[in-house]
Amino acid sequence: MKTLLQNAQLIGKNELRNITIEDGVIQSIQSVKLPIKQEENVVTINLEGKVILPAFADIHMHLDKAFTYPSIQNKSGTLSEAIRRFQDYQPSINSEVLELNMGKGIYSAIRHGTTALRTHLDGESSEYIKHVVEAYHAVKSKFSDYIHIEAVIMCPFNMTLEMEKDIRWALNNGIEHIGGAPHLSEHPQKNLERIFDIAISENADIDLHVDESDDPQVNTLPDICKLTDEANYNGRVIAGHCTSLSAMDKEQAHEILQGVKESKVSIVTLPGANMYLQGRNDQGIIRRGLTRVKEMIELDIPVTIGSDNIQDPFHPYGKADLLQMALLGSYGAQLTSEMHMNKLIDMISIIPGRLLKRKHGLTPGCLADFVILEVRDPRLILAEQTPAREIWRNGRKICKVTEVVEFDPLLSAKMISI
Ligand SMILES: [Zn+2]
Repeated sequence: MKTLLQNAQLIGKNELRNITIEDGVIQSIQSVKLPIKQEENVVTINLEGKVILPAFADIHMHLDKAFTYPSIQNKSGTLSEAIRRFQDYQPSINSEVLELNMGKGIYSAIRHGTTALRTHLDGESSEYIKHVVEAYHAVKSKFSDYIHIEAVIMCPFNMTLEMEKDIRWALNNGIEHIGGAPHLSEHPQKNLERIFDIAISENADIDLHVDESDDPQVNTLPDICKLTDEANYNGRVIAGHCTSLSAMDKEQAHEILQGVKESKVSIVTLPGANMYLQGRNDQGIIRRGLTRVKEMIELDIPVTIGSDNIQDPFHPYGKADLLQMALLGSYGAQLTSEMHMNKLIDMISIIPGRLLKRKHGLTPGCLADFVILEVRDPRLILAEQTPAREIWRNGRKICKVTEVVEFDPLLSAKMISI
């Protein structure tokens, strides 16, 4: 079946566009000024100038932790307390609870416009790994018609041989990628080398939490680039956070960024969790905690934005809404020009889509996965943060969120007379 979306507003286009879709793929996008080929059996929908975006791709989430706040609190607001409290909580969680929380996170992602996501899953203990892998497969299968889901198993910081067996078990039981947070290990280099060794032998891509610290001495990113080159893993490694880069002097940071570019390591910035967790010891002006996003864009390093933690001890806010994260990214990294605002949309759609090997985009041949917003000027996408959205997957509407505002009639009358 063919579908024609008429009068769609695309970012950067003066004239409205007509978009044709067939078999879940975009067939054509052309100016409304060009004649439409008359065909039978075409469903036509008039978007009346609404903005259409490629569907969002959330490349860094933690669905197994989602919605554990306020049951698990974080009094100091630090990363170390969040890790400790979640570890203390883990023995009380079973696969049913995990499936429920992960499902909530997935619904929330879909209703805000995400049709592809990657979640990190904790791999601290044998028992937890069994539960989390079971829950992951349950939700992945349940939602497969609506969203693409993949997972990263996180290696413990101080990994014993027994723990390594559990990580390998997860990779042999449907978990696609390997991760961890080597900068938190007592022996970061050793932890990193183990992660690369396991990745190579299991043929898994690597997606790490990297240098999530305000301390410029915390600096594993150059080692990651070196190991990436040695393993020929260029294009197969993602580094999330990298916040200590912002605490270093410019020359040192730029030398590291050159290495990142040459090694083809991609970067994910996580503005919500970074602004919540970083700078906790700062007095007076508190640092924003994001990595050097603007410089990465200038260097053409693939950099994306993810939700990270949603309502858990690592970040008590968030709702899997990447437009909200793009707004935080705009504030946090001062990406405020029109070019940067457009880039922020790419950073939550096309760029992470590419890293997930999904064709998110508004060009023929791309997936007909869209977000249609109740906004008519693309320059107002971030400002409006409209909840009113339609989410399309494979050429089919899978969710519609509307906004209803009811003013008292007398108040409404005043507005009309302004
Ligand atoms: Zn994370």
